[in-house]
Amino acid sequence: MDMSIRVVVTGSKGRMGQEAVKMVMADPELELVAEVGSPRSGGEGASFSGVPFLTSLEEALLAYKPDVLVDLTTPHVVKSHMELAILHGVRPVVGTTGLSTEDIEELDKLCREKGVGAIIAPNFAIGAILMMKFAREAARYMPHVEIIELHHDKKLDAPSGTAVKTAELIQQTRQELKQGHPDEEEIIDGARGGYYHGFRIHSVRLPGLVAHQEVLFGHVGQTLSIRHDSMNRESFMPGINLGIKKVLKLDRLVYGLENVMD
Ligand code: NAP
Repeated sequence: MDMSIRVVVTGSKGRMGQEAVKMVMADPELELVAEVGSPRSGGEGASFSGVPFLTSLEEALLAYKPDVLVDLTTPHVVKSHMELAILHGVRPVVGTTGLSTEDIEELDKLCREKGVGAIIAPNFAIGAILMMKFAREAARYMPHVEIIELHHDKKLDAPSGTAVKTAELIQQTRQELKQGHPDEEEIIDGARGGYYHGFRIHSVRLPGLVAHQEVLFGHVGQTLSIRHDSMNRESFMPGINLGIKKVLKLDRLVYGLENVMD
């Protein structure tokens, strides 16, 4: 009996999508049953992977009956893709960033109503998960902190999903205080970065970068830097692979890969 997990990838012709297609095809426990992309990505028909390429997710869900949807698209379409999948009983594993807290709450409600599992991870790289964990720990003792995230210049959302997630984790342990000089003035708008519960997040966008983040802590006479660098998009694939296997056992939405790691 064929026990492989049937997978559809949305955004399969994007930079992350291409890596995901390769990863799914290389794992004998997984079966890539269809690819879905926007009409801009080329016409319908076979893609380089040899599986059907469609421009309608709903058609792909109905025709190829996947177990899991891997979504690596854009902030504008990810929510509707997830809703469609959940309504069809297909479990989404989502790397697309840019979903708001309200979006995630609504999707969680839908998952619970339908008893369908889902995973959203703003960062599927294991090193980035550790960076977030260590940052949460450090903030307990060093509450003066700034986050500097650096990404390629094709990224649509700022700050990055990883930076937002890191900020949320830091806030859990950090004693609330407003940093910087009380009278500080921004001579150029945005110079001090985005404000989040008393501390700042800075977003750098440059060609040549992939995904990087430094969490910088300051204290009397000392600083601590926790830095993670993704050198290429392959770095996210072991985490997505784990997500595909773990989501089958879930009946609700899990946000953050760390919550499914042993
Ligand atoms: P990308 O190269 O721009 O790929 C996005 C793909 O989505 C494109 O192929 C695009 O097609 C497709 N798309 C757009 N609208 C669509 C629709 N309605 N239906 C189906 N496909 C559609 O971007 P990327 O660098 O691969 O990143 C994709 C997402 O992953 C981003 O949100 C990024 O922030 C996120 N990301 C997450 C992680 C993580 O670990 N969680 C890591 C890296 C990146 P067209 O080009 O034809 O419009």
